[in-house]
Amino acid sequence: MSIKIYRPLSGRIQVSGMPAPSRSEPSNREWFKDETGKAIRPMWIAGPKGWDGHWEIARQHFLPVARSLAVRFGRVDIVMDFNDHECCDRRCRNAKGDECTCTCMGVHHRGGVYSDWVDVGETTLIRSAGVKRSTSALTRAMAGRSF
Ligand SMILES: [Zn+2]
Repeated sequence: MSIKIYRPLSGRIQVSGMPAPSRSEPSNREWFKDETGKAIRPMWIAGPKGWDGHWEIARQHFLPVARSLAVRFGRVDIVMDFNDHECCDRRCRNAKGDECTCTCMGVHHRGGVYSDWVDVGETTLIRSAGVKRSTSALTRAMAGRSF
């Protein structure tokens, strides 16, 4: 099972596919806190079978969580939603934060906020929702660079 992060247009990010830790390791909840060094409060949402659930984490922790997962597991698959109707303008290009949900998909955001470290895969247009959904992978080698 691959480790996956899903970032919807708004609200918390979802992390799924993390294996249960062995007895000598910290719990995944503790690991998130230790690893990102942030006031992070991951919430476990159980799936139909219990173990097949996902973690929900405040979206401002997206980049550090993505990098930490890539370093720990070697690779993390990232699914991000962008608003196909949100124009890419100065607000995006001159933004201070890392988050981009506009139609450029991060290409122009602060000079390309995801472009230097994410290997961008397939993009699907969900026309009914006005959403462009991108699929990428972040590897350990990419996560070691910059940011
Ligand atoms: Zn943009």
